[in-house]
Amino acid sequence: MRIGLVPTMGALHEGHLSLVSLALGEADRVVVSIFVNPSQFGPGEDLASYPDTFDEDLMKLKEAGVHCVFFPSVDEIYPNGFSTSVNVSGLTETLCGKYRQGHFNGVSTVCAVLFGIAQPDIAVFGRKDAQQLAVIRRMAADLGLGVEIHAGEIIRESDGLAMSSRNLYLSPGERAQASVIFRGLSKAAELVLKGERVVERICYSVREIIEEAPLAAVQYLELVDPNTMKPVTKLTTPALLAVAVYFGHTRLIDNVILKP
Ligand code: AMP
Repeated sequence: MRIGLVPTMGALHEGHLSLVSLALGEADRVVVSIFVNPSQFGPGEDLASYPDTFDEDLMKLKEAGVHCVFFPSVDEIYPNGFSTSVNVSGLTETLCGKYRQGHFNGVSTVCAVLFGIAQPDIAVFGRKDAQQLAVIRRMAADLGLGVEIHAGEIIRESDGLAMSSRNLYLSPGERAQASVIFRGLSKAAELVLKGERVVERICYSVREIIEEAPLAAVQYLELVDPNTMKPVTKLTTPALLAVAVYFGHTRLIDNVILKP
C-alpha cells in the first residue's frame, strides 16, 4: 500500500488539487496536510493574516477523493521541548532564501516532521515553488528519508497568473496588473526560442514587461541552475528564470524553465 502526502497551508485552489490528483494517480492512499507553519514566516510577514478557508478546503478534498486530511495544531507539530531544525545549505542562499531569512529552515523542518508522522512513500510538491522543491529533494536524498519527491506543473489562471493562496490578498487593480509576471516569463521563453542566449538581455526584457505595471515592484529576477539555484551567466543548459514581485503588500513568485 503506497501512501502519498501533499503538504499544504490550506486556502486550496486548483494548483493544490492538481497535486492531489497526481498523488491519487501514484499512491493507494492520499493524505493532504493543512498546516500554516509559523516557523517558515519571518517577522512582518503574513502569518497572522494568512487566508483560512478550512471548510471549503475540506469539501474540495472530499470531492477530490482524498483519503485523509491531517490538520494538526502548532503544538502537535512543535510540542514543548521541540529542538530540531533541518538546514539545507547552498541552495537556500539565493532567490527567496536571500530575502526570507529562515524561511527554508522552517519549510524543511516541517516537511521532515510531516514525513515522520505520515510516513509517505511519495510526497508531491508544486513547481511554482521551484526552490522549495529543490530543497525538499535535497533533504530527502541527504537524510535517506525513503520518500520519493514528485513535482506538479504550475497551474495558472486564464490570464496566466500562477494560482496562489496569496492571490486572495490582491485588490482588483493589483489583480488586473499581476498578469504581467506571466507575460514577462513568456517573453523570456519566446526570446530563447528565437536564439537569444545573453542572460542580461533576457532579464532586461522580462523586467521591462513586468515594470510596465505601475503597481509591480520586482524583488528579484534571476536565472539560476534548477538544481543548485546558483546564478547562471550563460544559457547553455536548461535554466530556471525565477521572479518575486510585490503588488502592494502581496509578494508573488513565479518561474519558467528556459531551454536553449
Ligand atoms: P502552499 O499551500 O502555498 O504552501 O502550497 C502547497 C503546495 O502547492 C506546494 O507544493 C506548492 O508548490 C503547490 N502549489 C501552490 N500553487 C501552485 C500552483 N499554482 N500550481 C501548482 N502547484 C502549486
